[in-house]
Amino acid sequence: MSHVVAAQPPVEIPVAGTADTFPVRRIYCVGRNYVEHAKEMGFTGREPPFFFMKPADALLVVPEGSTGTMPYPSRTADLHHEIELVAAIGKGGRDIAAAHAHEHVWGYAVGLDMTRRDLQGEAKKLGRPWEVGKAFDHSAPIAPLRPASATGHYTKGAISLEVNGASRQASDVSLLIWNIAETIEHLSSLFELAPGDLIFTGTPEGVAAVSRGDLLVGRVEGLPELRVRIG
Ligand code: MN
Repeated sequence: MSHVVAAQPPVEIPVAGTADTFPVRRIYCVGRNYVEHAKEMGFTGREPPFFFMKPADALLVVPEGSTGTMPYPSRTADLHHEIELVAAIGKGGRDIAAAHAHEHVWGYAVGLDMTRRDLQGEAKKLGRPWEVGKAFDHSAPIAPLRPASATGHYTKGAISLEVNGASRQASDVSLLIWNIAETIEHLSSLFELAPGDLIFTGTPEGVAAVSRGDLLVGRVEGLPELRVRIG
């Protein structure tokens, strides 16, 4: 027996400062998880958490010290940045209680949930799925991971994004509506989590459009920064 078409290689994220990698299984994303961002999107910020997904091969893995290039995607005139803290699951499980959730997190990275806002807006209006707005190729740039054993678990910490040197998003992980432990509790009641899963935990306020040539620099205190040029 052999494959009848070429098998795709696994998607892997480097672990900062090592030759090790983290193989990716699934990407879960949390919607509207900072109050001020929920408000800018026209909501109160008091709803239960909700989730969407991106395929693992939508990641744009940017090695440490490099600047990645994200090709400007097709069919949009409103490509938005969303800077996010990403939690990487090391130990799977279902119905994980928030009190034990941190035991399931291997490490953390800085990621961008890039969004074709015009297509997402149209989908929302028509009650259609979000994939065309959220799950397109290269829609999830990510920097190398650091293990929780080095960073501690994130309940606070500055999170920010600059575009061409100007501040666009600046907040703190302590302002998450559903913190990482609570997010894992909710998510694992819906899906069985497994090693290799990533959770994009949501973006603070300040989302806006980018253009070809823009340089995005995302930071979360204690993690390697994420540098992406829009190609
Ligand atoms: Mn997002």
